[in-house]
Amino acid sequence: SLTEKLQRVFRDLRGKGKLSEADTKAALKEVRMALLEADVNFKVVKQFVKSIEERAVGAEVLESLTPGQQVVKIVNEELIKLMGSETTEIKMAQDRDITVILMAGLQGAGKTTTAAKLAGKLKAKGHRPLLAACDVYRPAAIEQLRVNGEKVGVPVFSMGSGVDPVNIARAAFEKARQDHNDILIVDTAGRLQIDEQMMEELGRIKEALRADWTLLTVDAMTGQEAVNVAKTFEDKVGVDGVIVTKLDGDTRGGAALSIKAVTGKPILFVGMGEKLSDLEQFYPDRMASRILGMGDILSLIEKAQAEVDEAEARRMSEKLKKAEFDFNDFLDQMKQVKKLGGIAGIMAMMPTAGASMPEIDESHMGRVEAMILSMSKEERANPSILNPSRKNRIARGAGVDINEVNRMVKQFEQMRKMMKQLPGMMKSKNRGGRGG
Ligand code: GDP
Ligand code: MG
Repeated sequence: SLTEKLQRVFRDLRGKGKLSEADTKAALKEVRMALLEADVNFKVVKQFVKSIEERAVGAEVLESLTPGQQVVKIVNEELIKLMGSETTEIKMAQDRDITVILMAGLQGAGKTTTAAKLAGKLKAKGHRPLLAACDVYRPAAIEQLRVNGEKVGVPVFSMGSGVDPVNIARAAFEKARQDHNDILIVDTAGRLQIDEQMMEELGRIKEALRADWTLLTVDAMTGQEAVNVAKTFEDKVGVDGVIVTKLDGDTRGGAALSIKAVTGKPILFVGMGEKLSDLEQFYPDRMASRILGMGDILSLIEKAQAEVDEAEARRMSEKLKKAEFDFNDFLDQMKQVKKLGGIAGIMAMMPTAGASMPEIDESHMGRVEAMILSMSKEERANPSILNPSRKNRIARGAGVDINEVNRMVKQFEQMRKMMKQLPGMMKSKNRGGRGG
């Protein structure tokens, strides 16, 4: 498997004390082979290996680490980048009460199953979804959706199979409005192959409902074919995100790795089995970990990161002692948080164990970042100048409500106050001298 092959390459690399350029090149050649065998798109592989090579052969080597470990760290980071870095969440429509999600994909890709899975997931989050059966070509498809909808406790709207799917979709939207559903998930008909009529029909439904999310479902087991299909759907209909199903049966990983790079569209969810609970949010970093194999490789990467972060933590502690911690630092911290894979990681890094920090909802991190990025340098350095008009501008810039800006600033002040109060903060890590 890809994981085994990569692990072998890295084991060889780590066995070497010093890496010559030839060593690195030989290793990258094997990485390249492993990816190609995993059915990753060849253009993607080429670009991927090139980025790694630029970094690995360049100056980007930490003194305290063996170069081999550094290469592993770089591969991990590039894998994450390849898959889009961020997790894409389904955002609700801003301009109306019903968010329309259109399911697209070839026959057998998993649309109907995934529509129900997604409905169940959104329902569990407190939404009120309605499923619409617009696959009129296979009568069994309507029944399949009805049965699955029932299993996840989500109503299914259908009008039988003799009706134009666009009309069903319109009627479903009307029904959703009457019943106060906030999400409409439209299951559509697929074909075995890319088909003009299918694309045309999909385009018409998309337009008629002004779909907020056109989600393409592709079967991971079809490898590069899934990527080609995704590219065609994106070109012909336009998709907002991809759901990769049957990852549970995919031993190669090629589709998941190439889709973002080839289509520019992120993977939102992955299907991990036939059960209706087997739909998972897609996390590029977790997928990278999965590909690199857990265990020793990852702990080495963590060690590499810990060293970087310790230097960063020392720098931060100086600031904290002087109570200079501002939004610029906060932004830095957020970058660290991302690198470390979450708040848990950063909390472990900060010597505040035992003390309870204000809750920061990870799903809002992206918005918090957007708000801070919408501040001027001066505002970031000096949060006290944030008056209502500035906050309004920031809210507009970040595309959030002013209340959210207020909340965020307040939370920040709270955090800062708490940090000031913590006695002997970071003493243990602050053993003389400044790092970073
Ligand atoms: P559609 O034609 O696109 O609507 O595809 P279906 O939803 O009918 O799914 C086709 C088959 O794939 C069904 O047997 C599903 O149970 C199966 N399937 C869908 N998603 C997954 C998944 O993530 N893992 C596995 N193992 N099977 C899946
Ligand atoms: Mg179907």
